[in-house]
Amino acid sequence: MVSGKYRGPLPAYKIGSLYYLNAKQAGELYGGQIYWYPVSGRVQMALRGRAIQMVVGSGFAKISDKAVKMDAPVILRGAQAYIPLSFFLGDDFSAWSGRDTIFNAATRFLSVDGRSSVGPVRWFSYGDYTRLVVEISKGTGYRSSMRGARGREVVFPLGVIESSEKASIDDGILSYYQLRQNLKAATLSVKIAKPEIHWRIKELGNPRRLVIDLYSGKAPDTAQPPLAPAASAAAAPVAAVKTDQARRRIVIDAGHGGKDPGAEGRRGTKEKDINLMAAQELARLLREEEAFDVFMTRTDDTFVPLSDRSKMANDFGADLFISLHCNASIKWRENGFEVYFLSENASDPEAARLAEFENSVLRLEGKSAQDEQAAMILQELSKTENINAASQLAALIARGVGRRVDFSNRGVKQAAFYVLRGTHAPAVLFEMAFLTNKQDEARLESKKFRRKIIDGLYAGILDYAKRQAWMAESR
Ligand SMILES: [Zn+2]
Repeated sequence: MVSGKYRGPLPAYKIGSLYYLNAKQAGELYGGQIYWYPVSGRVQMALRGRAIQMVVGSGFAKISDKAVKMDAPVILRGAQAYIPLSFFLGDDFSAWSGRDTIFNAATRFLSVDGRSSVGPVRWFSYGDYTRLVVEISKGTGYRSSMRGARGREVVFPLGVIESSEKASIDDGILSYYQLRQNLKAATLSVKIAKPEIHWRIKELGNPRRLVIDLYSGKAPDTAQPPLAPAASAAAAPVAAVKTDQARRRIVIDAGHGGKDPGAEGRRGTKEKDINLMAAQELARLLREEEAFDVFMTRTDDTFVPLSDRSKMANDFGADLFISLHCNASIKWRENGFEVYFLSENASDPEAARLAEFENSVLRLEGKSAQDEQAAMILQELSKTENINAASQLAALIARGVGRRVDFSNRGVKQAAFYVLRGTHAPAVLFEMAFLTNKQDEARLESKKFRRKIIDGLYAGILDYAKRQAWMAESR
């Protein structure tokens, strides 16, 4: 995975516990030029005029003029030079290439990401305002200014972005935003829908980020007047926190765990691990909202029976229940995400099979779906209401995710998922992608890509909360 995009399999040698990459192919990953001199055994990797020198049989690499010790010498295989993979993971190479390389030996997942000081940008529509969030590294300054009646610009001097981005939002407040690299700065351009949009910038930490709120109508007290250039790197005062007695309770359920690994990817990625990471990422986003209290059915790799999950949600007084899963299919080409809500009748045979798979953990618990079915036949009068709400939530999640990712939206489906059935709240089950698809497996393992999925899921929940009037007015 390079810069959040799937590149496909990369051949490697494994000798003992060490992996080796073909020098030429490795160079391509980093956008560098490789010069290979078979007679002398010299390898040179050049990037933006700077070079790394290596020699077959030697365990040292020369970066500029510094000798860096590698875990093992460069080897020769089939007249090609192979470099120990651990060299690319080290700080010296990272500083030289300007990229961070991560390798998971258990799943043989390799990701290369540019080191950037500005971005990515995330966006969320709250109805009466729209929020843009830009991550910025420590030490990066910014200044904002207006550009005509409907334009705003935030310039980050000496800022470096990993990739340019542009998105059309068109929600009546924000038309589009664009993040681009200039010679000595990164620039975020914002086009608002009408001149009377107010905006407010604040800075938050951990990770450090700039939050730009664009308000239609009157902004809260702390907002800057329209068209006023906000020119300081200091954080604007944050609006006073309203004590809201009606905080809504959201339960996030990371599917599987412990002795139940869930689906398994072709490289061995385990569904339970991906579900947990995604659940934690979603919980973090939701906890930033004053409107929500968040509860997770598991926060580590433990086994939690399905009935306990719904019981926990009910004890917590859940207003929403979101169960996170990864899909699997015997057809390796199947890919993309889908959102499920409960129905006794599956929307199609595939959905029925999936529910059967997700319910199969009941056997590990010494129960059968039929026994349980008898015990809980529609005790809930509110059931229909919950199912209607869940179908609405599912549609909003599918839309939120679909607008942020470039992979297949398989839409909203229905099936009899046990974990949804016992929960006395609108409940959806989100299948993030297919672990059985090579490309999806890499996506799920990539923090960068997972974040897009989670952003979309979060946006769907916000849309739902907005429609239920759960969110406070302008905060
Ligand atoms: Zn699952």
